[in-house]
Amino acid sequence: MHTEERTFIAVKPDAVQRGLIGEIVKRFETKGYKVIGLKMIRVSDEQAKAHYAEHEGKPFYPRLIRYIQSGPIVAMVIQGYGVVAGARHMMGCTDPNKADMGTIRADFAQVMEYNVVHGSDSPESAEREIAIYFNENELFPEGKCMSELVIESLDAD
Ligand code: UDP
Ligand code: MG
Repeated sequence: MHTEERTFIAVKPDAVQRGLIGEIVKRFETKGYKVIGLKMIRVSDEQAKAHYAEHEGKPFYPRLIRYIQSGPIVAMVIQGYGVVAGARHMMGCTDPNKADMGTIRADFAQVMEYNVVHGSDSPESAEREIAIYFNENELFPEGKCMSELVIESLDAD
């Protein structure tokens, strides 16, 4: 009844520089999502262009590309039930001042241009973005996690 999904998350360069890697990873881990891939990387020109292809030509695009390449990011793949929408909900909307209280962007960011975290906006975007940043052999989906155990015990009733 519940299907597991994967999504792509990035701790953006401003958050890495501000020492927020642990805080942001922790949000997703304590939710029960399983971290199945994680690495610190410098985003290449090709990766930046592919990642943000949908925004090419928009006024903020050149700054967005500079931003995502301004320092290392922590790229992650997380897995869980409804994780694509769930992770977006936890991040809050793009502008931190409009994001709900308690979301990552409301709690850790001030302006849209430096909004500390990226998350895929659909299952299709997630698969596309995961392929930009990860090889399949860098992902470790096997094994149980808390959310699966909870769901199984509920289903047993
Ligand atoms: N962005 C920006 N100015 C804008 C809109 C977006 O600097 O007016 C940046 C911001 O970092 C955002 C990213 O571009 O996270 C991608 O924009 P999108 O609309 O896809 O927002 P998201 O999916 O990240 O919430
Ligand atoms: Mg987006």
